[in-house]
Amino acid sequence: MCVGGHLVAQPVEFTRIQRLTNNEVALTLTAPVGRAYRLESAASLTEWGGLFTFPTNVTSSLQYTDAAAPFLATRYYRAVQLSGTNLVSGDHLATVHGDVIMQPRNHATLVLQWNGKMLYFDPVPTATYTGLPKADLILVTHTHSDHFNTTTIDAVRGPACAIIAPPAVYNGLSATQKAIATVLTNNASVDLLGVTIHAVPAYGASHPLGAGNGYVLDLGGKRIYVSGDTGDQPEIRALADIDVAFVSMNQPYTMTVGAATNCVRSLRPRVVYPYHYRDQSGATTNAATFKQWLGTDLGIEVRLRNWY
Ligand SMILES: [Zn+2]
Repeated sequence: MCVGGHLVAQPVEFTRIQRLTNNEVALTLTAPVGRAYRLESAASLTEWGGLFTFPTNVTSSLQYTDAAAPFLATRYYRAVQLSGTNLVSGDHLATVHGDVIMQPRNHATLVLQWNGKMLYFDPVPTATYTGLPKADLILVTHTHSDHFNTTTIDAVRGPACAIIAPPAVYNGLSATQKAIATVLTNNASVDLLGVTIHAVPAYGASHPLGAGNGYVLDLGGKRIYVSGDTGDQPEIRALADIDVAFVSMNQPYTMTVGAATNCVRSLRPRVVYPYHYRDQSGATTNAATFKQWLGTDLGIEVRLRNWY
């Protein structure tokens, strides 16, 4: 394996490229403040793709750890300065209609930007939304307060926003929100904004069957799974060709780390994000333990992000 740093647009500069003991690669870039930059990667010097868009920087040092590097024979990096409006920072997933940008916000809240649209999952007051474009689509997994808040939905929804909700969530929406909502029962699907959305049953010890949805999004030839609050269930293991999975793991509400490990090893996504992983004790060690237990033999990239 070789790792190359490639300087393209002055004055962005790779000042450090370090192979870590787990074979991931830690990158440090130095760049003028007040601008946004996109880190790109390639397996050859002719086929670059987006890896990560940094937020507009307030310090000159930018850090990124590439968790895919251990699984690749060759990896090159470069960085480009971005211009334009409505820039959203986060990880990239390439599709035939441009990249999905995936941005963790907090606990169970995440946002995706794709094809000019903003998708918000489980927006609640504990997350902040400053600087983000308003939502074109809001997906709510279930009624618990760490996932569902009608005031926050009104705060983040854009003028032509749609809402996807299981029946119990729909029943808790305001009349205005109901008018723009689509009810999805477990295993139902709908097409919105060029995305096919499938409701996957999300249930377990603390969540009765039928009350909650996970979601699979088919968009631009890629598949993203967001688990919601669930145990390790056969409906999850049966999902095929998942590119990116967001999987919950905390007690007593979702999976144990062991259950999440078994579930994800069966699901075999290409990339997995532990989310919703803080335990009642306040500990946030589940994510790192999950990464350790999952191992590297299946080639699944585990991305640890700051959700709290
Ligand atoms: Zn929850």
